[in-house]
Amino acid sequence: MRCVSAMTGTRQMPRAWPYLLKTLYPASCVLCRAPGRDADTGLCPGCLEDLPRNRIACRRCAIPIGAGHTLCARCRRQPPAFDATLAPWLYQGSMIHLIHRLKSLGQQPYARLLGRLLAERLADRATPRPELILPVPAHRLRLRERGFNPAVEIARALSHANGVPMRVDLLKKVRVTEHQSALPREQRLRNLRNAFSLNGEIPARHVVLLDDVITTGATTRELARLLKRHGIARVDVWAVARTP
Ligand SMILES: [Zn+2]
Ligand SMILES: [Zn+2]
Repeated sequence: MRCVSAMTGTRQMPRAWPYLLKTLYPASCVLCRAPGRDADTGLCPGCLEDLPRNRIACRRCAIPIGAGHTLCARCRRQPPAFDATLAPWLYQGSMIHLIHRLKSLGQQPYARLLGRLLAERLADRATPRPELILPVPAHRLRLRERGFNPAVEIARALSHANGVPMRVDLLKKVRVTEHQSALPREQRLRNLRNAFSLNGEIPARHVVLLDDVITTGATTRELARLLKRHGIARVDVWAVARTP
């Protein structure tokens, strides 16, 4: 009996091979290396379940709050310019590992993983659906240093998964700023004043600002203020994780 490649004259791989290879050597989970990870997220069911969820959070800024509340004390006292924030996980435990690998080690496949996770988690929560995703921009010097902007990479995967278009050219960081987490709260907004600019007309009424982690929230506050000043009706914020 002749083999397939002899009949067709090419060296084709039999169709069943990829399936057989996958069965014999299943791809391992990116966190615990156990076999049998989810094809989209790269995580095994156990690690997916273990990611620290941000279960009860302020609707406006996503900071964890006590059961029975919808807004935190700060948002009640001084509402931010953005309208709502969704950050499904806390910046704790294994979520720190995933984000660290993306940001510090420059492993961009992790951006795909985080973008898909976010798309899955937000699928039925993000209503009304925004018209445009705007990743939080990085200054060009910071970009040169790292080689990529993690927020853009996550937004790219998210946009691919949920179909909401993304624009990276409309928001610009025009001034290098100090790391927000190193500053006392009163100085954070001052540190960011005039740090961003709009680069053209925003072709939407409802946009979402996308960041990897929300720490102080001052960056998204400043960007939302800028967008609202330019007539954007609704600004939401989405992030993978929120510091508790
Ligand atoms: Zn795992
Ligand atoms: Zn709040």
